[in-house]
Amino acid sequence: MDHRLLLDARARVLADLAARGCATADAVSVLEEACSSRQWWAEQWPAGEVYVAGLVAQDVQDALLETVGRWPACTECDADEPVHSLYIHPDLGGPDPVWVCEESGEIAAALGYLAGQRR
Ligand SMILES: [Zn+2]
Repeated sequence: MDHRLLLDARARVLADLAARGCATADAVSVLEEACSSRQWWAEQWPAGEVYVAGLVAQDVQDALLETVGRWPACTECDADEPVHSLYIHPDLGGPDPVWVCEESGEIAAALGYLAGQRR
């Protein structure tokens, strides 16, 4: 597979972790792990390349939910809404993955372009 794809996936997820103040050493090692397992996966199935970035984001989201908690939280909805998450759309991880609010279904940002926390 094209190595740049994986570097791009890593950079985008890292940017979104940093945007929410979640780019800790632990989170970055979770990200590294997700990248290497998805690299292996994409080498087995080259047609899956377009899904890699979104899948890496989902892997990191799942892993963080078990350790540090919800990432990324939605900041698009009213501040008096209960805290809820953004999800990768399409669910398969691509192509062109975006973060979507689980409540409103609105697109918050493309993967890699999350805004900082406003609350
Ligand atoms: Zn929302």
